[in-house]
Amino acid sequence: VIIAPVILMLSRAALRWDKDMPDSLTEQPKPHRKKGNFKPKGRLVQAQALQEINQHLNDARPLRADMLIEYLHILQDHYGHLSAAHLAALAAEMKMPMAAIWEVASFYDHFDLVKEGETPPARRTIRVCTSLSCMMQGSEQILKSLQQHNSQDVRFVPAPCLGACDKAPCIADGHHLSKAQTEADAIQLSQQPPQTGHNPDYVGFDEYRAQGGYQLVQKIATGDADKEALLQTLEESALRGLGGAGFPTGRKWRIVGSQPGPRLMAVNGDEGEPGTFKDRHYLSTNPHKMLEGILVAAHLVGISHCYIYMRDEYPEIISILKDELEKLKASGLSAHVGIEIRRGAGAYICGEESAMIESIEGKRGYPRHRPPYVAEKGIFGRPTLVNNVETLFWIRDILENGAAWFNEQGSETHPGFRTYSVSGRVARPGLVVAPAGSTVSDLIDACGGMADGHHLKAYLPGGASGGILPASHSDIPLDFGGRLAELGCFVGSHAVVVLSDADNMWDVAQNLMQFFAHESCGQCTPCRSGTDKAVHAMASPSPDLDILSALSETMADASICGLGQAASNPLICAMRYFPQDIPSI
Ligand code: SF4
Repeated sequence: VIIAPVILMLSRAALRWDKDMPDSLTEQPKPHRKKGNFKPKGRLVQAQALQEINQHLNDARPLRADMLIEYLHILQDHYGHLSAAHLAALAAEMKMPMAAIWEVASFYDHFDLVKEGETPPARRTIRVCTSLSCMMQGSEQILKSLQQHNSQDVRFVPAPCLGACDKAPCIADGHHLSKAQTEADAIQLSQQPPQTGHNPDYVGFDEYRAQGGYQLVQKIATGDADKEALLQTLEESALRGLGGAGFPTGRKWRIVGSQPGPRLMAVNGDEGEPGTFKDRHYLSTNPHKMLEGILVAAHLVGISHCYIYMRDEYPEIISILKDELEKLKASGLSAHVGIEIRRGAGAYICGEESAMIESIEGKRGYPRHRPPYVAEKGIFGRPTLVNNVETLFWIRDILENGAAWFNEQGSETHPGFRTYSVSGRVARPGLVVAPAGSTVSDLIDACGGMADGHHLKAYLPGGASGGILPASHSDIPLDFGGRLAELGCFVGSHAVVVLSDADNMWDVAQNLMQFFAHESCGQCTPCRSGTDKAVHAMASPSPDLDILSALSETMADASICGLGQAASNPLICAMRYFPQDIPSI
C-alpha cells in the first residue's frame, strides 16, 4: 500500500526523463522542453570526432559490438593513439555506454589512451623485448640507453615476449619484428620509414596445391574420404593440444562434434608464452598447412564459422594470412566454412581459451569460470572448437600418413613428435622437431651444445610458467605429465630456455614474476594482488621467504585461471633448488 504510489511516482518521473532525452548524444540535443539549467549527463560528443569516426568506420557499417577491438585498431593505427573524443564518438555511434568502450580500450597494451588535456605519445613506437631470453642478452640495458633518445617523433618502450626468442635481443618497429639488435641498430631503424607488409618467401597457395595441398579437403567434400574413419585416425594418433594444455585433439573434435549446432571454431594464434616461437615459424613459412587443418576440422566437426585469433605482435603473419585467405576463398575450397581473422591487442592472457573468446566477442580478455566448458558454450554461447596453430598444422600429415606414422616418431611412453622452441645459452637457438619426451640434454645437443663459455646450470622446461629445474634434472622427458608433473613443473607449449652459470636464478624468477604481474588481467584478487606483492617482496635485499611461500600457495589455490595458478612456479623452484642465488641467504 505504501510502496505502490512511490513506484508510480518514479515511473512517471522516468517517463518524463525519457521524453527529455536528445535523439543522439551529439552537441546539438533537440530543444529542451524543461525549464531550468538542464544539461545532458555524460561526455558530450564533438562534431569533428563524430565526423572522423564516420570517415574511418563507414566501410564497417553496420557497427557490431563484437568488432569493437577491430574498430579501436583502425583508430589507433591511424592516429597513433585513442583520444577521449574519439572514444565518446564511437560509444555514441555504437550505442554503447562510454564505460563499456573505455574498459575494453584500457585493457589492451597496444591501445594508447589519451585523456583530455594529455599529450599524445610519439607517432612512432619501437619496442624492445624485456622477457627472459632477451633480458639474458642485455635487452634491459639496451632499452635504458635507447629511452634517452625518446622524442616527440619516436619512443622506445619495453615489450613482453615478441615471439622470436631465437633472435634475442628482439626489437620491433611498431609491431613488425626488426633485424635491429643493438642500440645503434635501433636508432638507425627509427630514422628509416616504418616497415609494412610481409616477406614473400613462404609457400603460397599455388605452390601448396602443387605439393598436393587441399587434396584431402577435396576428397572429404566429394565424399571420397570417410569422415568417421578420419576422425578415428585422429583419435588413434597421439596428437594433443600443442598450445600448452595437451588435451587429446581427436577426443576434443569428437566432443565438440557431438554438441548441437551451429558450432563455431577459434584458432588460438596468441602465442605469448615467453620462450615460444613455433607458431610464428610455421605460419610464416607454410600458412596453408594450418588453413587446411581448419577446413578439415570444419568438415569433420561440422563448423560453420571460424575465427583466427592472431596476436598483434605478428603483423607480418596477419598480412600473409589475409592474402592467402583471399586466394583460398576464391578457389571455393572453403565454401563450407566462414573464416575471419581477429587481431589481438597485446594481452598475454588472451592465449587462455576463454579469455580469447571474450576478446573475439569484443570484450576484455577476462577468463571465464568453468563449467560450462567452451566445447559446450564458447563464442556467443555456441559450442566452440578451440585449437592451437601448430595442432592444426599437423592435421593433414597425420590424416594422409596415418596415426601410426605420427605415433612411431616418438616412443611407446611418449608417442609422436613435438616442436621445441629452444633459446637461451645454447650455441644455435631455434626450433627442434624431436620425439616427444626428449630431454634438455637432447635439445642442447640438437642446438650445437652450450654457447661458448657457458655451462648448464638450469632450464625452463615449459616457458615462463612451467618452473625452473636444475642441471641435475637434465634427463627428464619433456612431455605432458610424467616425472615433470611430479616435480611440480610442466612442458606447456614446449618452450625450453637454457640457463647457465652466468645466470642468477633469483633474477630469472623476478623477471618472470614481473611478467605475470604485468599480464594479470586483474579479475581475481589472489593473482592481481599476489603477483604484485610477490614482485615487491622478491625485490627486497632480504626477501621474506615465509611470506613468499604463503603468497605462492594462495595464488596457486585460489586464482581463477592458469596464469595465477602457475605464476609462482618459477619462484617456488628458485627457493627450492637455488637458495644460494637468493639475496642475504
Ligand atoms: Fe585474471 Fe590472474 Fe585471475 Fe586469471 S588468475 S582470471 S589472469 S587475475
